[in-house]
Amino acid sequence: MKFFSTPCQEVTVDSIVLRDPVFISDLHLNGDDSDTIDGFLHFLDDVASQHQELVILGDLFDYWVGDDAIETVSVVIEALKKYSEKHSLYIMHGNRDFMMGEDFGKACGATMLADPCVTSNQGVRILLSHGDIWCTDDEVYQKVRRKVRGFWWQWTMLRLPLRKRLDVAENARAKSKATKQDTEASKMDVVNAEVVKTALQKHAHAVIHGHTHQPSIVQLDGPLNRYVLSDWLFKDGRAVRGNYIVISDNKPVLKNIG
Ligand code: MN
Repeated sequence: MKFFSTPCQEVTVDSIVLRDPVFISDLHLNGDDSDTIDGFLHFLDDVASQHQELVILGDLFDYWVGDDAIETVSVVIEALKKYSEKHSLYIMHGNRDFMMGEDFGKACGATMLADPCVTSNQGVRILLSHGDIWCTDDEVYQKVRRKVRGFWWQWTMLRLPLRKRLDVAENARAKSKATKQDTEASKMDVVNAEVVKTALQKHAHAVIHGHTHQPSIVQLDGPLNRYVLSDWLFKDGRAVRGNYIVISDNKPVLKNIG
């Protein structure tokens, strides 16, 4: 039993080398949406398997209440485990699944990434983040973020019974939906100046993130762009939304699924 460790404190890998990666984010998988889960399983076989590394930049799951809930999405965990036997798998926490811990990482064969993290290959450095750390116009959100990523909140939460934690997650999900409708869209977007600040600190040539669900390429500063991943939604075996990023000629390229 681990007494002095919580999911967000365990993650320390903030620099990796990637050769031929594919990046995705914000799949928001949950047991009630088998269409999107099937779409993801298909993507693993069809697209991700063609690349050496799969990097998931947060919110793979719509919520994660603790590693003792792994069984609720065992089909996804098994598919990731199978993928990681022949490829490398990296997973970053999002604002929905930041309680993914060591047991989760082991179960799917993933290396958990700190946020932000830098990947380098042949001298080209790309800054990776879920993205919500840069939504600094939303002060209320940042306050909550700091609290729930802190040791005491996580330690206390993980000691509640699983059923209770699932209730907390369902409530938070409903509340987040309501807040999203009330908050101006611009306030929920990333602040470009904050992204540039981190990119300069990390000597990055490009930035890839998710979270905002606004797939785009945004020019920041000279040649520095941020490449924004979409959220995912599948209906009746077809992709309604969803994209991924690959690297071509040392530059990120956005591609639509399906
Ligand atoms: Mn998010």
